Amino acid sequence: MSETSPKLRAELEGIPTYKPGKPAAAGGPVAYKLSSNENPYPPLPGVLESVSAAACNFNRYPDMACSGLMEELSERFGVPLAHLATGTGSVGVAQQLIQATSGPGDEVMYAWRSFEAYPIITQISGARSVQVPLTPGDVHDLDAMADAITERTRLIFVCNPNNPTGTVVRRAELERFLDRVPSDVLVVLDEAYREFIRDPEVPDGVELYRKRPNVCVLRTFSKAYGLAGLRVGFAIAHEPVAAALRKTAVPFGVSQLAQEAAIASLRAEDELLGRVGSLVCERTRVVDALRAQGWTVPETQANFVWLRLGERTAAFAAACEEHGVVVRPFLGEGVRVTIGENEANDIFLKVAEAFHKES
Ligand SMILES: *Cc1c(COP(=O)(O)O)cnc(C)c1O
Repeated sequence: MSETSPKLRAELEGIPTYKPGKPAAAGGPVAYKLSSNENPYPPLPGVLESVSAAACNFNRYPDMACSGLMEELSERFGVPLAHLATGTGSVGVAQQLIQATSGPGDEVMYAWRSFEAYPIITQISGARSVQVPLTPGDVHDLDAMADAITERTRLIFVCNPNNPTGTVVRRAELERFLDRVPSDVLVVLDEAYREFIRDPEVPDGVELYRKRPNVCVLRTFSKAYGLAGLRVGFAIAHEPVAAALRKTAVPFGVSQLAQEAAIASLRAEDELLGRVGSLVCERTRVVDALRAQGWTVPETQANFVWLRLGERTAAFAAACEEHGVVVRPFLGEGVRVTIGENEANDIFLKVAEAFHKES
């Protein structure tokens, strides 16, 4: 008998492995992780208490329907329960959306560069990625995206603000785009950083979805709410799409710990959004300082900044690491740096200043 390995789907060949943000180096004097857009604040005491209480029962399966969390979300956003679906982070929900809409022969469209998970989950499905380059100002080129729609297009991601550039699309251009998308193509507004937006011209996807049955809004508890480690996100969409998400969900995917933490976080929203406010102030401080140093920084509405360093990307990331901050390099393109603790941001700014002077 010849030794062959089990047959695997050809679609998996060449899939880029998701690169998680590098952890802060252990053993150094100080090490700050500014590579994964996490919230630097530790969990609120009340949230920890809810999770601890739930921990006493983890011999049991979680509530598969996430009923408590769904009720809470329904009230918070003023949407019917039938328009909601939860999942293992919004990446999990995004993958379910592709599973529900796209397969071999279909096309999934998104801007590029954008969120790294999009090409991976698209390729796994067997569908083809259609990547539409950002404008020279690192913003979604919505006209080019609308032009690129074909009869094979099934799903379009609009990441607003865009990861890793932090740039946004505004109300008028987004509505004009949505008007051009055929009603049988699903548009997914990935709003993972919604709570960090201060530009009033950026529309709330939840308002847009109400009048548009082909729009789905993705939100997460990982960023502003500080629950990245617990894996819970959700979608708001009209009934056929939300129902399809329930069909494609991994059974019992969202743990009871995650459900309880998400509920407690929604109830502690004022306090959590106060922290988001502090991070937004830090963002302003960091962007202003970088510009004063001479850097070109695109307008960011998220909890990170983007420096288009091109060939100097690796050198810059290494310089940051040497000084105790880990950033996220995209080789040959640029670095994404999360707004973190004030001390971490200070170190990053010092490295940036020295680096800009040298080059
Ligand atoms: C971080 C992020 C998410 C959220 O991921 P989770 O799976 O919810 O942790 C989704 N979309 C984008 C663009 C992100 O940057």
